[in-house]
Amino acid sequence: MTMSEGFAIDATPASTAGSEPVALLGMSKAALEAYFQSLGEKPFRAVQVMKWLHHRDADTFETMTDLSQKLRAHLEAEATLAMPDVVQDHQSRDGTRKWLFALADGQRIETVFIPEKDRGTLCISSQVGCALDCSFCATGKQGFNRNLTAAEIVSQVRLARRALKDTDFGRPKAITNVVLMGMGEPLLNFEPVLEAISVLLDDLGYGISKRRLTLSTAGVVPAIRALAGRTDVALAISLHAPTDALRDQLVPINRRYPIAELLDACQAYLEKLGEWRSITVEYTLLAGVNDRPEDAEALIACLAPLRERVKLNLIPFNPFPGSGYARPAPAEVRRFQETMMAAHYGTMVRTTRGDDIDAACGQLAGAFDDRTKRRSRYIARLRDHGEIVHGQTGR
Ligand code: SAH
Repeated sequence: MTMSEGFAIDATPASTAGSEPVALLGMSKAALEAYFQSLGEKPFRAVQVMKWLHHRDADTFETMTDLSQKLRAHLEAEATLAMPDVVQDHQSRDGTRKWLFALADGQRIETVFIPEKDRGTLCISSQVGCALDCSFCATGKQGFNRNLTAAEIVSQVRLARRALKDTDFGRPKAITNVVLMGMGEPLLNFEPVLEAISVLLDDLGYGISKRRLTLSTAGVVPAIRALAGRTDVALAISLHAPTDALRDQLVPINRRYPIAELLDACQAYLEKLGEWRSITVEYTLLAGVNDRPEDAEALIACLAPLRERVKLNLIPFNPFPGSGYARPAPAEVRRFQETMMAAHYGTMVRTTRGDDIDAACGQLAGAFDDRTKRRSRYIARLRDHGEIVHGQTGR
C-alpha cells in the first residue's frame, strides 16, 4: 500500500489466501483452531501444532507424532512450514548480529539481534522496503516493494532463536524483547502484523510479554486508533521534530497526519494501556536540523499534554552514504538530553549498536528490486555527488 491509497485494513490474512499453501507459522491460535475445525478436527489440534512449531521447532509434519497419520498427510499436501533462507549472518564486534534473509520470491529483508546485560532485543522487519520515505532513513531510500506475510514476520524470530541456540545467548530466553523497528511501516501491513504479534505473545508461541513487544510507527493515525481496539503491546512513535513545518520535511506522512492528530491518537492508545504504562517517543538527532536548544524547547512545549505518559528515546543519527545529514557531537546530544530531563521528561539516548555491520537504526536496506524506482533515483543522486562509482552503495 502506498500513502496515497490511504489506510485500509485488509481482512484476509495472507497465510490462508486461496490456493496458496496454508502458512501455519504465521497463524494465531484462533486462526489455527478455525482451520482445524474446517478440516473436521478438534480445535485442540491448534495447541499441539503450535507446540511443535514454536516450542519444539519442528520442521516436518512427519515428526508431529501426536497427530493422526491422516491429518499429517493432509497437512503435508495443503500446508507449509517454509521459512526464508539465511543469505548472510553478520556478527558485530559488540555482539550485535544481523541476518539477511531471502524470501521465497527472492526479496530480501534484514533482522537484527542486540544483546544487552539484562535482555536480548530482536529487531524485526514488517515490509520489504518502505513507502514512507523519511528523509534520513536508508530503508526509505529504497522505496516500497511488498508487505511481509505473518509467517515471514514470525519466521524472523524463529530463525534468530535457532541461530542463537549455539552461542553465549543460547539460554532458553535469549530473545526477551521484540521490536517492530526493522524495515517497513508495521501499521501499513496491519492484519499480518497483528496476526504475527498474536503468535509472538502467545505462551504457545514465543511467550514475549506485551510490555516487551514494541510496535514503532511513523504515525499512521487511523491505524493507531484501530490498534487500540485490537492489542495493548508497547507503542513507539517516530516524532523526530517538534513542529509540523519541520516534521513535514523529515517524516512526509506528517503532511497527512500532523502532530496534533498523532498525539491525540497516542492519547487514545494510552487509555487502552492503562494508568501505569507509557508511550515511547523516538527522536533521531540530526546535527543542525532538530538538535538545537530551541528545538528542545519546542519539543518540551509540543509534548506537554503527554508529559507524564511519554518516555523520550533520543537516537543520534546513524549515517549512510548520501544521506545529507550528520550525527551531532556527543556534547550536543548530552545537552539535548539534559534540557529534556530538566523539564521532567524521562529521556534515554539509544546507544548505537552494530554500526560496523550497518545494523543500526535506519541502516537496514537489504538489496532488492524497487518497484517504486526510488532506489535508482537515489543511486543516480549519489553518483552525481561522486559518492559511488559502480552503482553500489557499499552495503
Ligand atoms: N517505520 C517505523 C519503524 C522504523 S523504526 C517507524 O517509522 O517508526 C526505526 C526508527 O529509527 C524510527 O524511529 C526511524 O525514524 C529511526 N531511524 C530511521 N533512520 C535512522 C537513521 N539513519 N538514524 C537514526 N535513526 C533512524
